Amino acid sequence: MNESLEKLLLLSREIGRPDRRLAILGEGNTSTDLGDGTFLVKSSGSSLSNLDKDGVSRVKMEPVLAALDDEALDDRGVKSVLEASRADQSPRLPSVETFMHAVCLTEGGAKWIGHCHAEAVMSVLCSEHGAKPFLGHIFPDAIVVCGRHVAFVPYIDPGLALAREVRRALREFRAAYGVSPKVVLLENHGPVALGASDTEVLNILLMLDKWARVLAGTLAVGAPKFLPSAVSDRIDNRPDEHYRRAQIGRGS
Ligand SMILES: [Zn+2]
Repeated sequence: MNESLEKLLLLSREIGRPDRRLAILGEGNTSTDLGDGTFLVKSSGSSLSNLDKDGVSRVKMEPVLAALDDEALDDRGVKSVLEASRADQSPRLPSVETFMHAVCLTEGGAKWIGHCHAEAVMSVLCSEHGAKPFLGHIFPDAIVVCGRHVAFVPYIDPGLALAREVRRALREFRAAYGVSPKVVLLENHGPVALGASDTEVLNILLMLDKWARVLAGTLAVGAPKFLPSAVSDRIDNRPDEHYRRAQIGRGS
């Protein structure tokens, strides 16, 4: 657990670096599955940029997932679930997005999750276009790093309601493409990166950030020129791109 905790702290501080403009103040959260029925997730109110071990909660997976199917839970009930889900003695509550992290770490097939309020990505997600410009590709590296397709959910209340929508989106994505997405875009909110390693999560968020800035630029000078679907499919399936993807994603 100590190695996972150290990596989670480093990943969080990388995402929270002020020059990256991915998150400020208490925005965003990170998590990793410990593989023993518990996971580490950022505590509520702590900041990614200077996260330390006191700002991380170890949480039991089972009660968090069970809450998703409890339609009767109100806001007080949600708080009780978060309090009871703590695997260690800790005065801090896990982030309200703990439910979404649990969903991504199970149904999303990921080992590491990074969620932030990236300024450039939000420029598009908070526009009248929403997630739509991300449904086609405009340059190859975004396909290699962020995946051939991305999932998205319309704006919904953060917390349990959001986690349920993300679960629905992950299931629909798997049914459509046979794999889990590397990116879930939350409209009017921000991106979620799903990775096999801490390195992959950071890579996805950085490439997505660049993709969003290029998209915003193309929208400002006219309109994006999307790659034809067959070209995007070809890049997604090229053996040399598979190799490159494996090298880029190498981390923990
Ligand atoms: Zn958020």
